[in-house]
Amino acid sequence: MALIELRDVRKIYQLGDVPVNALAGVSLDIEQGEFVSLIGQSGSGKSTLMNTLGCLDRPTSGSYLLDGREVTTLSLDARARLRNDKIGFVFQSFNLLARTSAMENVELPLLYARGVTARQRRARATEVLALVGLADRMDHQPGQLSGGQQQRVAVARALVNRPAILMADEPTGNLDSRTSGEVIQLFQQLNDQQGITLILVTHDPGIAASAKRTITLRDGLVVQDTKFSPLASPDVPSTDSFGRSVSNLPGPERSRPDSSVSADQEPDKK
Ligand code: ADP
Ligand code: MG
Repeated sequence: MALIELRDVRKIYQLGDVPVNALAGVSLDIEQGEFVSLIGQSGSGKSTLMNTLGCLDRPTSGSYLLDGREVTTLSLDARARLRNDKIGFVFQSFNLLARTSAMENVELPLLYARGVTARQRRARATEVLALVGLADRMDHQPGQLSGGQQQRVAVARALVNRPAILMADEPTGNLDSRTSGEVIQLFQQLNDQQGITLILVTHDPGIAASAKRTITLRDGLVVQDTKFSPLASPDVPSTDSFGRSVSNLPGPERSRPDSSVSADQEPDKK
């Protein structure tokens, strides 16, 4: 069974007399560990789909199984509990508390978690801040961090509950291209190394291409669903027969070039 199973999901908004079919019958499966980008023009239904997947909003009809549980018939409270348990969110505007340290921002979701002591809270916030590369910025407030660093604090906050799924709606919309690359690289790393399922809404084709699967929406329908085969870069030998590194050589077989941001780049401005 897939982690996410949507069947003929529809969302109709009633605008006066006019019904708006924001989702017009979407069916799709997303497996544990996938990295999916959702693309489509403005108004195509991306945010509505994301809010549905994120258990923030309930469809008008259809079925949504999240980890085997039917979400559409849950009460508001039960849905909120399931959401807190399974899903972390990252937004375009980082939504961090100003004049509050990175540490305290990340600890915040755990204040509501039952049975987590202050000591455990601190330990888990420390762990996820290190995971996003901010071990040396824990005491900084948002205003003392770059945009990319602020978004990484937001990612850490989304991870502190140990969700199975991380959802991000235009997470790089407020970032320049270099910093966007940094955040996308973090997503790839979380997906590859932590096995976190990632669902990313973007209108940027370059960002969408960093995912392993791209789902395209138009008028509330899935019109394209493309999985990239994993044999592109991992199969390329990293050294030639003389033991020399060839990983930087351009080649037709490297159909999915690495992100332009190098792995050891340490964002250290400020
Ligand atoms: P996207 O995120 O791809 O830009 P949305 O999911 O936000 O698209 O919107 C899909 C469609 O639903 C649009 O036509 C939008 O105008 C409409 N819509 C979204 N939210 C509402 C709402 N709360 N009330 C009425 N119509 C809405
Ligand atoms: Mg949107």
